[in-house]
Amino acid sequence: MIVQVVVDVPTGGTDRLFDYKVPDHLQEIIESGMRVIVPFGPRKVQGFVISSTIETDIDKLKDIDEVLDVTPVLTPELLELGDWLTTSALCFKITAYQAMLPAALKAKYKKEVKLTHKECLSQLPFELRKWFEHRDVVLWEEFLGTDDKPLIALIKKAVTDGFLEVIYKVNDKVTKKMIKVVKPISYENLSMQLEELDKRAQKQKQVIEYFLKHPNQISVNALIELANTTRSTLKSLIDKGILSEEDVEVARDPYANRIFKKTVPLQLTTNQEAVIQPIYQSINEGRHQTFLIHGVTGSGKTEVYLQSIAKVLEEGKEAIVLVPEISLTPQMVQRFKERFGSLVAVLHSALSTGEKYDEWRKIHHGRVKVVVGARSAIFAPFKNIGIIIIDEEHEATYKQEENPRYHARDVAIKRANFYKCPLILGSATPSLETYARSKKGVYRLLEMLERVNDVKLPTVEVVDMREELKSGNRSMFSNALFEKLTQRLNRGEQSVLFLNRRGYSTFVMCRDCGYVAQCPHCDISLTYHQTSRSLKCHYCGHQEKMPQKCSSCDSEHIRFFGSGTQKVEEEIAKVLPGARVIRMDVDTTRKKGSHERLLTQFGEGKADILLGTQMIAKGLDFPNITLVGVLAADSMLHLPDFRASERTFQLLTQVSGRAGRHQLPGEVVIQTYTPEHYSIDFVRDHDFISFFEKEMGIRKLQSYPPYYFITVIQVSHPEITKVIEITDKITAFVRRSLSEKSIVLGPVACSIPRIKDRYRYQCMIKYKNEPTLVNILKEVIENYKREINQGNLQVSIDMNPFVLM
Ligand code: ADP
Ligand code: ZN
Ligand code: ZN
Repeated sequence: MIVQVVVDVPTGGTDRLFDYKVPDHLQEIIESGMRVIVPFGPRKVQGFVISSTIETDIDKLKDIDEVLDVTPVLTPELLELGDWLTTSALCFKITAYQAMLPAALKAKYKKEVKLTHKECLSQLPFELRKWFEHRDVVLWEEFLGTDDKPLIALIKKAVTDGFLEVIYKVNDKVTKKMIKVVKPISYENLSMQLEELDKRAQKQKQVIEYFLKHPNQISVNALIELANTTRSTLKSLIDKGILSEEDVEVARDPYANRIFKKTVPLQLTTNQEAVIQPIYQSINEGRHQTFLIHGVTGSGKTEVYLQSIAKVLEEGKEAIVLVPEISLTPQMVQRFKERFGSLVAVLHSALSTGEKYDEWRKIHHGRVKVVVGARSAIFAPFKNIGIIIIDEEHEATYKQEENPRYHARDVAIKRANFYKCPLILGSATPSLETYARSKKGVYRLLEMLERVNDVKLPTVEVVDMREELKSGNRSMFSNALFEKLTQRLNRGEQSVLFLNRRGYSTFVMCRDCGYVAQCPHCDISLTYHQTSRSLKCHYCGHQEKMPQKCSSCDSEHIRFFGSGTQKVEEEIAKVLPGARVIRMDVDTTRKKGSHERLLTQFGEGKADILLGTQMIAKGLDFPNITLVGVLAADSMLHLPDFRASERTFQLLTQVSGRAGRHQLPGEVVIQTYTPEHYSIDFVRDHDFISFFEKEMGIRKLQSYPPYYFITVIQVSHPEITKVIEITDKITAFVRRSLSEKSIVLGPVACSIPRIKDRYRYQCMIKYKNEPTLVNILKEVIENYKREINQGNLQVSIDMNPFVLM
């Protein structure tokens, strides 16, 4: 028996299947989709069994060393999906498969130095001998720790002489959570043992009495609490042979300590009913279809998701729900938990490696039927998917910006197609690509253009900050916003103040010469951090003290500018001294769980104003919020990205949607320096359609998506001449190879031309139909393989870039 294996050596030359022989004792257990350990050159590496065969061209096949799994971790469907990923996202096979699995399943290799034979000890030089006197194996790291270069040389020599050998050991870092449990060794003897105990052993008796009443095993910690006892008492009973203790595995459930009130399906509104019928139909007929629910904020999309899933569960099938960044949308998770209880697994980036692994195994073993998660949850190892839902489908987080550079939407279409089930994309502000596809009939458009229960969309007022300045208001709050904030305070209602993080952090500038403090390694300005009174680079982590003098003109008038959330908080304290503020930004939410805690506090009415960045734009649903203020709507507009206008419109619509979602009517104030810009103007009337048409016109004119596909090749190198030269060659090659109709731009510097002392250039390809593009790009990589492997040159290719930086 021969199997074909993808090995964990991510380089161009090893990106193919390798044949291995299966030794007799493994033939019964090995299956495609299992992880194995195989010899690869001098090493042992992990790999995935992809297929088996009976023929091979190789003369001398090596044996599989070890099988790591009892059941395959990758189903045949996922194996095929991975294969598709390698071409559609242009990545190595191993990278694609690893992306589908929790990090805990990725083995690490430990290097060990082993004495070849006991007799060899006396042959070793004195310096090495002492290491092996009492053991045969020493970890390589131990030698490294000594900082002793000659020692390594001695080892090398001993290896050549055959006295020592270096072995690679796979260190499976699977971390199961274990707890200690105790139980009586024999329940029958318990009463007798109680009698026999010494009278003074009152504490021990108590424990036995507990077990007489509760004849079950129990965790040590729980027992100590419930039987009001101590560790040492338990230990005495264990030593006497009355109780036994063992380690058992428990599933970590990050939501285990929370109680969820069960909710029942709501009576659907007419609009919801109209939207859910075609979805039911697709489920009933077992037919794949992609739906776009274009529904304004608060239109009841989530209830449609919940009831569609209920239908799928009835059919005995499973559901995947993607939400943008789950730690930012605890309310969303809560609604799924409340409806489906322990049938729900939650997968998100804030979980520890072990927690993620536990959730993944619940899915793998079929113990849950619904997974709610961020991007990578699209790879959930279900085997009978009945529906996939992507909420806020326009969000950039669905695109992975590192290898494999996949978009969750594309993966979802692929999987839904395989399982012949519906895919639902939901958004108040669909991406241009998606909406265009739904207009063309590729996706089926379902509309929910009004809020549930006749709740009105909030009224939006756009304030021109230039006028404010002219009329003498130098504060960061316009008169309108200030007035409305005061009103809310008086009425005991809540407000949300939104400040865009990007492009709006504090930078340090000299008032005399205009010099802005820059990172010495990246072409980007440094950000002022008040708590540490220092300047930091957000790209490379470089940090320096706040300068006393301008390094360009020596002036002492060097100050920080811009207005971070901290400054806004200070300003509120000044102008609205009574207001209670909760601030939510990267600084206040660093600790695990703090995001949720702050939101809960706000929900409980412990603050009047919620002040925050992007992280408060999504998913909030609090009845008492009646005012949303956007402090600087422009900050996103001027980013060098063709999606800047689209993002601005989406973000402003989304934050506005936080206001007046229930009985109380909502108001929104948007402060801007460019009120005439269409992406701000159309938010005023919640007019997605007009925005869409306007933006489509611009995309058409500039040959951008959805009219053209784009691919970006980014090249970086420590030497600027080299980077230009290579990008130039690549651009010329691509231009020559593609059809006349495609547009190849470059070489141009990236919008951040240098990061971590590496210069960055790019080539952009705009095309409509280029069936050979993947092969051309592969050729580019192949051509520079040597220089890339040497480490100086980096070439990264994104076939559908979402953030252009
Ligand atoms: P969306 O997901 O579109 O923002 P939600 O599903 O959160 O909208 O619905 C907005 C509000 O309306 C929520 O508070 C929800 O509980 C309520 N709601 C949704 N559907 C119904 C219904 N059929 N009957 C009563 N209330 C509903
Ligand atoms: Zn830097
Ligand atoms: Zn200066």
